[in-house]
Amino acid sequence: MNRKLKISFIAAGVLITPVLLSPFPRFRAPLSTVVEAKDGTLLGARIAGDGQWRFPGNDSVPYKFEKALLTFEDKYFYVHPGINPVSVIRAVKSNIKAGEIVSGGSTITMQVARISRGNRSRTYSEKIIEMLSAIKLELFRSKKEILKMYAANAPFGGNIVGLEAATWRYTGKSSADITWAEASALAVLPNSPALVFPGKNQELLKLRRDNLLRILYKKEYFDSTTLVLALDEPVPGEPKQLPVTAPHLTDYFYKHNKGEMIRSTIDPEIQERANEIISAHQKELSGNFINNSACIIIKAETGEVLAYVGNTTTGNTGENGEDVDIIRARRSTGSILKPILYAGMQKSGEILPNTIIADVPTRFPGFSPKNFDQSFSGAVPASSALSQSLNIPAVKMLQKYTPERFLDLLRKTGFLTFNRSGDYYGLSLILGGGETSLWELAGVYASLSRVLNNYNSENKYYREDYHQPLLTAAENLEAEKTEDPDPPLSASSVWLTYEALKKVNRPESEAGWQYFSASGNLAWKTGTSFGFRDAWAIGTTPEFVIGVWAGNADGEGRPGLTGITAAAPILFDLVGMMGTKGWFKEPSEDLTMIKVCSRSGFRAGPGCPETEEVMACISGLRSEACPYHKMIHLDKNRLMQVTADCYPAADIRNEYWFILPPAMEYFYRQKHPEYRVPPPAAPGCVADRNIPVMEFIYPTSGIKIFIPRDQSGLLTRVIPEIAHRNPSKKIFWHLDEEYIGTTRFIHQVEILALAGSHILTAVDEDGNSIRCTFTVTGITE
Ligand SMILES: [Zn+2]
Repeated sequence: MNRKLKISFIAAGVLITPVLLSPFPRFRAPLSTVVEAKDGTLLGARIAGDGQWRFPGNDSVPYKFEKALLTFEDKYFYVHPGINPVSVIRAVKSNIKAGEIVSGGSTITMQVARISRGNRSRTYSEKIIEMLSAIKLELFRSKKEILKMYAANAPFGGNIVGLEAATWRYTGKSSADITWAEASALAVLPNSPALVFPGKNQELLKLRRDNLLRILYKKEYFDSTTLVLALDEPVPGEPKQLPVTAPHLTDYFYKHNKGEMIRSTIDPEIQERANEIISAHQKELSGNFINNSACIIIKAETGEVLAYVGNTTTGNTGENGEDVDIIRARRSTGSILKPILYAGMQKSGEILPNTIIADVPTRFPGFSPKNFDQSFSGAVPASSALSQSLNIPAVKMLQKYTPERFLDLLRKTGFLTFNRSGDYYGLSLILGGGETSLWELAGVYASLSRVLNNYNSENKYYREDYHQPLLTAAENLEAEKTEDPDPPLSASSVWLTYEALKKVNRPESEAGWQYFSASGNLAWKTGTSFGFRDAWAIGTTPEFVIGVWAGNADGEGRPGLTGITAAAPILFDLVGMMGTKGWFKEPSEDLTMIKVCSRSGFRAGPGCPETEEVMACISGLRSEACPYHKMIHLDKNRLMQVTADCYPAADIRNEYWFILPPAMEYFYRQKHPEYRVPPPAAPGCVADRNIPVMEFIYPTSGIKIFIPRDQSGLLTRVIPEIAHRNPSKKIFWHLDEEYIGTTRFIHQVEILALAGSHILTAVDEDGNSIRCTFTVTGITE
């Protein structure tokens, strides 16, 4: 190596080594969590871990701020190598003159280096380190990146750090939207934040800002009109409070995406209006000590959340559980799952839309469901049972479908909170025995509406159509979708369910009548949990799903807290705000016309005299034929039942008769005067065994009964009950072949059965008999 080259290398080494050894400016301070709406509107933010408002950095520094900043602080930023020799020499001179450091002569790059070192005291050695670090930064980072580092970390007075936090707190908007006057005021601030703290030294701040504005005007960044208007703008005052438009959503992101800037799916206008609607209703609810309510609005097509009101915000945080994010809280479902069961049974072909379901007093061990209005209709079409939210038909339906299958269906449609076995929940699952959240519930309805819409446009089912609501923009909307050969629910089953839910006109109590008119193009359902603790309302249109909850976050029940009185009014105001546009298209490819019995709604059998056609799932073609039109044999006057053993065969008249089982008949007759009880057996004739005259309401054959001791320590008793077609007939009761009593009109007895299997027999005065076996599985000792 020649000598000159060697010396050059050594010289370069001598110069470069201190630069390379100097600290590289890095920023590791914690960041605020910032939540924006889908258009960038700030919804809320949480302060960083060190008590500073330091927003996550923007992708670029706004033009106006850059021009204002560089004009004020560092005119040669784009040409100097990190330090500006001219201003350094000028600074050294003035510092020597003053005997202390009064001027920094700092470039933006040096200021970045200084801020990264925590704004240490101004000494010559510190200054040298800053310069070396600045040169190092210039070697490894572009000018734009250095500018971004400055904008993200410059102090703006108090605990406000960085341009983005500063513009929000001083101007109430994003840095992208600032004016020349605001950009100039903000460019002046970091230079000496203590001296020009907004709100304290307004005049000095205005003076400096206006000077800067005039220089910018001279440099022709804007015209004279802009200058006049800019000089007229007030300077920033006290820092403003940040918006609190979606506090529970902000909390959610604070927990899951701390220190990030989140661009959410929220529509700021819908969010604001949903907040207003919740607040307006909360005033009324509070009158009844119902302190909390929440709502979520989801766009069905994508699952994007448009509004997230996690709770009421009267400002009494800490009181009344307003901190609780109700949208995520698990609460008893009440009746809100009934539509899913109805849809499941339509899809499997187990029922048709108007198949009648028993609505009679029903008891299960430890569980006796009641309808909300305490009445029974005997038998009711499944669709009406759903729209009126009758409990007993729902339990009867679940008994047929089984809790295990229903849980499987719930999980497949997107309910993840039901994580116990079918035995654990039992039949009460359909009445609120399990818990879900508004988040899941609204998510499932959005999935179902999506499935129906997508089927209508593509005639296909996709696995990806079922998903949780989205809070940030969907990334893979265009991604390849997987066809689902066996979807949890079919388009026709969802459509039939929505059709039934459109007709909701007497949900749980008469009180909802005033909302009929609003519900034309809306499938909706309410739910009330046991003990009036939770009021739910869910509604869907082809475009969006709205879920509402009202109650007390601490779980306290209130009389009158029902889905229809507390949650439905909020739902309808939200629906009014969103507007409804038309109804779901009928999935005709997935539907078929089925001939049904006009009286039972079952597939028409040979004996059904009147039939009609209904739209149903194709699987409904395999559904059970009408079991209630039975052939009976009558005498020639058709007044009594006879058999060939007691009556001339030639005179027997055969007739199909609509016959309900005794318990159903008892209640059905009261509401259906057209119902004709089958004629009695003629004297000397034995009644037709195929047409029972009585049946057990409790126990049902084969059940296992667990008998606890009551509070006084005595064993509680089993109370069997029978419905007789003619209640005035006497019934003689036998337990394990031993006579235990006679009943008339009210056919109930009280028995004390020991552990083990038992046979209960009942014989009426005409000699008709029924029996049932049951097992007492355990007695608590
Ligand atoms: Zn029939």
